[in-house]
Amino acid sequence: MKKDSDILTDSFGRKHQYLRISLTDRCNLRCTYCMPEEGIQLAPRSSIMSYGEIYSIARLFVKHGVTKIRLTGGEPLVRKDAGIILEKLALLPAELTITTNGILADKHIDTFRTCRIKKINVSLDSLCPEKFLQITRRHSFNKVYGNILSLIKEGFNVKINVVLVRGFNDNEIIDFVKLTKELPVCVRFIEFMPFDGNRWNLDKIVSFEQILKQVNARYPEVIRLADAANDTSENYQIKGHRGSFAVISSVTRPFCGGCNRIRLTANGHLKNCLFSSTETDLLTPFREGKDIEPIIRNTVLAKKKIRGGMEEIKQLKDPALHSKNRSMTSIGG
Ligand code: SAM
Ligand code: SF4
Repeated sequence: MKKDSDILTDSFGRKHQYLRISLTDRCNLRCTYCMPEEGIQLAPRSSIMSYGEIYSIARLFVKHGVTKIRLTGGEPLVRKDAGIILEKLALLPAELTITTNGILADKHIDTFRTCRIKKINVSLDSLCPEKFLQITRRHSFNKVYGNILSLIKEGFNVKINVVLVRGFNDNEIIDFVKLTKELPVCVRFIEFMPFDGNRWNLDKIVSFEQILKQVNARYPEVIRLADAANDTSENYQIKGHRGSFAVISSVTRPFCGGCNRIRLTANGHLKNCLFSSTETDLLTPFREGKDIEPIIRNTVLAKKKIRGGMEEIKQLKDPALHSKNRSMTSIGG
């Protein structure tokens, strides 16, 4: 049992036991809300953590109380050594999970199983292949949808991440909820968040109230489910459906009070909040053989109370504040 004082704690008493590791800033899709068509300026390969470095740094976090690790990206599965990384991290006493766009998921099903991965989040923002193409700029709808069905069939606990953008896919909310009638998945509606160059503005957000209003108008019995500890989503189910749905409103109803997350970017920088425009380089001192534990502790300690310091929603309207934050694909969503 970990001593409480070992656990990475910030000045508001929040204990950080959930580490998200980005394996790469590369991706085989170009989702409009995440990165520009031409891609992003990629970090040089030498600055990206090797699988050995990922394992050693992750082990240090686990030693200091991390109990859950989620791999993300960019697209984590485009890394050639993704399988090796999964196998190494599976040796640690922490729950291992992954967020993927699903394109390469079928190639890794055996590894997921041997690594005891049970929960997999797959991003899919439209059930219409044409719209999928518009949003991702790639023709991969059938592959992604097929792989979601395969993962479910293979017994994985699948969540589908849907970023809602007003006027684009908010007319598919009910179609996604209908999907939960036969499929045992959780569809998670995520509010569009501001990042460097993603043409965000507050008016493009589909709020929690608007989502619930649409669902309530269509379904008479919407059941509120219990949320897990530190859950970032509010969970619901339609009576009689096998699956469920959830709303993640990081912008309009931030869940910062119970936040237990920290993020490690592919180039080994620690970000204490997704909204924060600052980050701390761990990889350089790690490569120099320095003890990075005090650096980690201080970074966690400096975490701001709400949305990386943007306590007021109106601050988000100021691009000068949020555009310094690199895109989701290079942070690791
Ligand atoms: N490539 C993988 C994927 O798409 O699932 C993993 C990385 S992606 C950055 C992780 C999650 O961040 C995805 O569910 C994606 O939809 C979400 N995301 C990316 N940009 C976003 C934005 N601007 N607002 C909200 N969610 C975003
Ligand atoms: Fe790639 Fe995921 Fe970003 Fe889409 S959301 S561009 S799949 S990293």
